[in-house]
Amino acid sequence: MKYITFILIIIVLACVFYSYRPFMNFKEKDSMADGKDTEFTEENYARERKKMVEQQIIARGVKDKKVLDAMESVCRHLFVPEGYRIYSYYDQPLPIGLGQTISQPYIVALMTEMLDVDNDDIVLEIGTGSGYQAAVLSTIAREVYTIEIIEKLGLLADERLKRLGYDNVNFKISDGSLGWPDKGPFDAIIVTAAAEKIPDPLIEQLKPGGRMVIPVNNSSYSQDLLIVEKDKAGNIDTKKTIPVRFVPLVEGEKAAK
Ligand code: SAH
Repeated sequence: MKYITFILIIIVLACVFYSYRPFMNFKEKDSMADGKDTEFTEENYARERKKMVEQQIIARGVKDKKVLDAMESVCRHLFVPEGYRIYSYYDQPLPIGLGQTISQPYIVALMTEMLDVDNDDIVLEIGTGSGYQAAVLSTIAREVYTIEIIEKLGLLADERLKRLGYDNVNFKISDGSLGWPDKGPFDAIIVTAAAEKIPDPLIEQLKPGGRMVIPVNNSSYSQDLLIVEKDKAGNIDTKKTIPVRFVPLVEGEKAAK
């Protein structure tokens, strides 16, 4: 009987360890995506990043060279909490604290491609999170304005972006559904949290000829990723693309502190 209890305890402990594996702090050495023992050097991260671009992004049809270069140049592992770093180049979103997530690499690339930004453009991002999407955009656009509602997350992201030299990113803590009126209108707006509907101030702050990419809740607990275009005359055209899953765009007073 004692023997069986002992075996059961070992099995339970093994299960608990296995399920918490992603939450643990791995040291220098661990097995990477391909299962081999690999040192966590910048060189190996760069190799993982190249593989991510080929296997997750190009393979799914993203073609824009500017976007592919951006995804290959930005060190995603520097935007992910230490305990999750070895999963940085996996094909999935990851937790960044306070219930928020950094999006799956493919979704970051796809949304960036949909935004169709060039190097003269001024872009507004709602939902700074880790700062990763802002960093990707900053390598393509002239200026990026990014807004985060959770102060703790936002200040960390701002410090990280400055430390890594993404100098054309401007940041503030605020309710992003109100936009950034004194810096607009914007050539492009990207919302990286799920909205109930497209916020009116964001439509107003979009330049004629500009476009917005935004996930908007549908009836099946997910969102439709919308491309919203404003033509030169100010008319709005909305196209539904793929279903996605984002954390909610919250109103000011409901935000975590
Ligand atoms: N773009 C981020 C991931 C976004 S996760 C990255 O690259 O890491 C969504 C973020 O939107 C969360 O950090 C959340 O706090 C923020 N958010 C939610 N509602 C918001 C609002 N009203 N205004 C600004 N940010 C908001």
